[in-house]
Amino acid sequence: MIQEDIFKKIIAHCKEYGFIFPSSEIYDGLGAVYDYGQNGAELKNNIRRYWWDSMVRLNENIVGIDSAIFMHPRIWEASGHVSAFNDPLIDNRDSKKRYRADQLIEEHLEKIEDKIQKEVEKARQKFGEAFDEQKFRTTHPRVLENQKKYDDTKKRYITALEKENLKDLHQIILDTGIVCPVSGSKNWTDVRKFNLMFSTQLGSVSDDANTIYLRPETAQGIFVNFLNVQKTGRMKIPFGIAQAGKAFRNEIVARQFILRMREFEQMGMQFFIKPGTETEWYNYWKEKRMRWHKALGMGDHKYRYHDHDKLAHYANAACDIEFEFPIGFKEVEGIHSRTNFDLGNHEKFSGKKIQYFDQDTNESYTPYVIETSIGLDRMFFTIISNSYTEEKVDWEGSAKEERVVLKIPPALAPVQLAVLPLTRKDGLPAKAREIMDRMKFDFNCQYEEKDSIGKRYRRQDAIGTPFCITIDHQTLEDDTVTIRYRDTLKQDRAAVEKLPEIMGDKVSLQKLLKSL
Ligand code: ATP
Repeated sequence: MIQEDIFKKIIAHCKEYGFIFPSSEIYDGLGAVYDYGQNGAELKNNIRRYWWDSMVRLNENIVGIDSAIFMHPRIWEASGHVSAFNDPLIDNRDSKKRYRADQLIEEHLEKIEDKIQKEVEKARQKFGEAFDEQKFRTTHPRVLENQKKYDDTKKRYITALEKENLKDLHQIILDTGIVCPVSGSKNWTDVRKFNLMFSTQLGSVSDDANTIYLRPETAQGIFVNFLNVQKTGRMKIPFGIAQAGKAFRNEIVARQFILRMREFEQMGMQFFIKPGTETEWYNYWKEKRMRWHKALGMGDHKYRYHDHDKLAHYANAACDIEFEFPIGFKEVEGIHSRTNFDLGNHEKFSGKKIQYFDQDTNESYTPYVIETSIGLDRMFFTIISNSYTEEKVDWEGSAKEERVVLKIPPALAPVQLAVLPLTRKDGLPAKAREIMDRMKFDFNCQYEEKDSIGKRYRRQDAIGTPFCITIDHQTLEDDTVTIRYRDTLKQDRAAVEKLPEIMGDKVSLQKLLKSL
């Protein structure tokens, strides 16, 4: 199946099974805004908890806060967002579609890279063991020609971005013959700057002085509370402040489901360090964050680092952790060495001294910062897209049938245990509810009695429930149940009192955290 089709199927599945709904759907939706349904909210909470605990609980020197979304407007001047949080946009006159100029060029570069790679793979197959890739890349005429195109365009592109030269970006699009994916034409407008912040008015008087912004990132709420937390928590450098919360960006191109939303959630941690130690801590967090992702067991080969060519206005080193979605590798998390840009600027703009006094060396300084910032929604989609499986299975010995199952890491599953009375008679529902009442303090349980047991199993597979138990007549006699495992479809008989032991290890967030 083509990857784009899988992407569409997953989106439909998310809606059908209560994970994600388009926002305001009965009014035909709102562009790039989504609501999380009953199962989505549980999964999101579990991911957030996994992140929060791994940061705040496991590190003595990291604390968590929850700052407001509305902040003083001067903050966004100090942070550079008013002047520099822009995307270059371009319109195609024929299709009337709007694009990000930088993304059009990057996609063009990726296509050239793909062409080169295809050529290399073809040759590798042809020559087998004797293939010398280095030699091939430096001698094959078509590869050389494409490599030159790539290098020249990339160089022009990076320079244009660094100088924020919109004319050059426009010229690159014309010179490389990039066409609109919808109309196929090269009828482009000029490139213009577009600020991504949403603004609104505070209070009842609407003049410029009251204009405030919906925060475009959670990081600034941490920087402006640096002194509050450092002093009240008696924190010693190096230390970190974490927070998870909503951020808002008026994205120009928002066509990728929850990968690019206008309202989304970030989980960020700012780690304050002594100037001069940034390389060491940058590498530390780069590695540590990758370990957090890989611990979920979704396949190490699905992740890669992507170092930034163009650094944001605040950074001196930056990379992304990318995940392989059905539509290719995309950023999930950014790790940025932000220098003392933010604290330094807040000191300037607020007129308040924001420094750290180091008692060991008797000196004051503005701390440097390493940031880790992960999008909760994108993280959600790594899990959903990686878990979505269509497979042929033997249902209770019958002919092979297709099932759709979400193989969500059990510790994050929205429902961990489904409690299913075999029939609605003979006191089985009452017994099932009694078991549910015992289990619900330790596990997120769901009770279901409607439809055949096979149908109920399939519904639980579709939402990724790792364990189902069936209560039958034997349960009434000896307090045992049939336990059915999501991934293997194996069924065992087990005593109810043993369930916490059987399930505990597999659905335990603690165990996941211990593996980090
Ligand atoms: P991109 O380059 O994809 O626009 P970014 O580099 O601007 O992302 P950051 O400012 O580093 O993103 O934000 C940190 C994280 O927040 C990203 O890694 C991503 O997971 C998430 N994120 C950013 N923008 C969005 C969005 N519009 N929708 C959903 N998640 C987002």
